[in-house]
Amino acid sequence: MPAPDIAIPSRAPAEVSADDTILPFEVAALDLRGRVVRLGPAVDSILAGHDYPQPVAKLLGEAIVLGVMLGTALKFEGRFILQTKTDGPVPMLVVDFSTPDKVRACARLDKERLATAIAAGRTDAGALLGKGHLAMTIDQGADMSRYQGLVALEGGTLEDAAHEYFLRSEQIPTRVRLAVAEEFLAVSGGTSHRWRAGGILLQFVPRASERARVPDLDPGDAPEGVTPHTVKEDDAWVEGRSLVETVEDVELIDPALSSERLLYRLFHERGVRVFRAGALRAECSCSRQSVEAMLRSFPQSDRDDMVENGVISVTCEFCSATYVFEPGDVADKASSE
Ligand SMILES: [Zn+2]
Repeated sequence: MPAPDIAIPSRAPAEVSADDTILPFEVAALDLRGRVVRLGPAVDSILAGHDYPQPVAKLLGEAIVLGVMLGTALKFEGRFILQTKTDGPVPMLVVDFSTPDKVRACARLDKERLATAIAAGRTDAGALLGKGHLAMTIDQGADMSRYQGLVALEGGTLEDAAHEYFLRSEQIPTRVRLAVAEEFLAVSGGTSHRWRAGGILLQFVPRASERARVPDLDPGDAPEGVTPHTVKEDDAWVEGRSLVETVEDVELIDPALSSERLLYRLFHERGVRVFRAGALRAECSCSRQSVEAMLRSFPQSDRDDMVENGVISVTCEFCSATYVFEPGDVADKASSE
């Protein structure tokens, strides 16, 4: 773990939630570290901008919390992209986080199957996603190699997938809780609503390396009679994960409960230290220049196929901005002369 920023004075915990923030923390007595994510306007503007059916908005909201939670842990400039690819009514979710503080996200829907699933009440994450995988990509720019981690999605939640990923790929015992809800407000003439989301990540990172053991992977098709080697879970980790498993959804999204109060509620007996909070905003990174560059990278025949009513029109999947080009604007230099 990089040296935490300890140059901040101790202070009384904030009373109310600061929206669109990420608060790193440490419970030194239990060798635990983590982050609390609280999202208000950022998640609301993304979800309201797309107008997805409610269960899809909730699922994408969870993915946004997870993507922000992991992306803001990057210690260098770059992007963190969380993407699902599955066979269910929501075949793809994408959360694209750019350091230090920008996030955008979208979902792809199979409208017919989604309508059937919603009518039948099958709207849990497992039913909407189906089976496939979750990919997490770290991109440090054109000259650097990309890192991609994959974990199977097998009808479970994004939380399940995150636990599996950290256990198998990073060998770090991890618990994640994600929550998304609509807050209804009375306004003149009726009610309005806005989305809120939150989450907590907890990891066991012992200083003594011999305590960092995790159970071996299942031996799979090993010969019969081979007992898997088991390692007893560390008591400190059992205590930490048990506490995080008690966190209710409402505690993660309640505007009246600050991240610090939540941490105090969970860990006051052991002592918890918080570090400088980071901020987050919803912002798309698309631009006319980037869309033009993408179009120019296509073969002329593909661009010809894209012409409708005399123009090429491209709509950003993340923010719905539409860019319109004359075919000559993006034609190969040779053919436009
Ligand atoms: Zn955009």
